[in-house]
Amino acid sequence: MRIPYNQVFSNVNVHIKADLEDFFRMNYGMDKIYFTTSCSSALQMAAEIIDIKEGDEIILPSFSYVTTAMGFYKRGAKLIFADIDPETYVLDLEDVKGKITDRTKAIVPVHYAGVSLDMDRLSDIIKGKKIYVIEDAAQGIHAKYKDRYLGAIGDIGTYSFHSTKNISTGEGGILSLNNKSLMDRANVVFEKGTDRQAFINGEIDHYSWKDIGGSYEMSDYLKMILFEQLGKIEFIQKERERVYLRYMKNLQNSNLQLPKIPKYSKSNYHIFAILLEDFKKRNEVIKSLKSDGIQTTFHYQPLHDSKFGEKMGYSKFALPTTVDVASRILRLPIYPDLTNDMIDEI
Ligand SMILES: *Cc1c(COP(=O)(O)O)cnc(C)c1O
Repeated sequence: MRIPYNQVFSNVNVHIKADLEDFFRMNYGMDKIYFTTSCSSALQMAAEIIDIKEGDEIILPSFSYVTTAMGFYKRGAKLIFADIDPETYVLDLEDVKGKITDRTKAIVPVHYAGVSLDMDRLSDIIKGKKIYVIEDAAQGIHAKYKDRYLGAIGDIGTYSFHSTKNISTGEGGILSLNNKSLMDRANVVFEKGTDRQAFINGEIDHYSWKDIGGSYEMSDYLKMILFEQLGKIEFIQKERERVYLRYMKNLQNSNLQLPKIPKYSKSNYHIFAILLEDFKKRNEVIKSLKSDGIQTTFHYQPLHDSKFGEKMGYSKFALPTTVDVASRILRLPIYPDLTNDMIDEI
């Protein structure tokens, strides 16, 4: 007779986890994958893995989602906001270069809209310095920089499977670890601050509290949904590309600023964003399209200029492109079910 200690409520197919890990290891070239409750929690985990301490400096865009900053902030990091490129809306590497100091611990590139940064150039800029690269590839699944997948390039990469992203589990994410020297610490952070991973591996006979950590793991049920979603990724990508290219064709003779994908970048077409003349015009267009039943939207309110940013003194950063783009950007609907007729109507 075999009598387990516990009656386990859910023991969802254990092979799913292994298959999922294989998918990202084999297709994307990631070393070690942690499935997380969200990209926000993966970024929080990253801040714990690289052991951010009071006063460490993190360089990141202000034109991003709040949790690009939050995990680092909560560990006491000093946030150094850098401006964005006026055409691709990702970090302006000249500005980043000028903001690196002896205290810079990490740079957090955000691959906006699934369009990558020039990662080789970033590597050159930090060559010889002990600075981590943590890719916020929340919007970047299945997109590439040259021949490498986003999220698999920096020391750490993070993905989001939020319901607004290309592939979704409702809520969910990944932390991919591409720097092996961080592995032991990452295992402890992921296992709620214990060395349970070493225990599971049979290396020790009991596990205990070792360091900081949290409850970051994605539920097995969501892993099953993720597995199902990944089977559709090529289809989703192809359909989003169709929508993107049709907008480009329809708008090519307009005087709007259209999206740009640099040669080194292979997009996943997460967003189709245009720049209107000014703030007033942009808001008029949103309103007018809305009255025709078409939902369009602006994007990030710059972090440095937020209520909290003001309180913390971050509004002193001069980020003219960030402020300008945020005031004029408009995102058009983009998803596989959008028909060509619908696109033309928009
Ligand atoms: C969506 C998004 C996040 C947050 O992802 P969650 O999975 O919802 O936590 C973080 N950063 C960027 C750039 C995002 O687009």
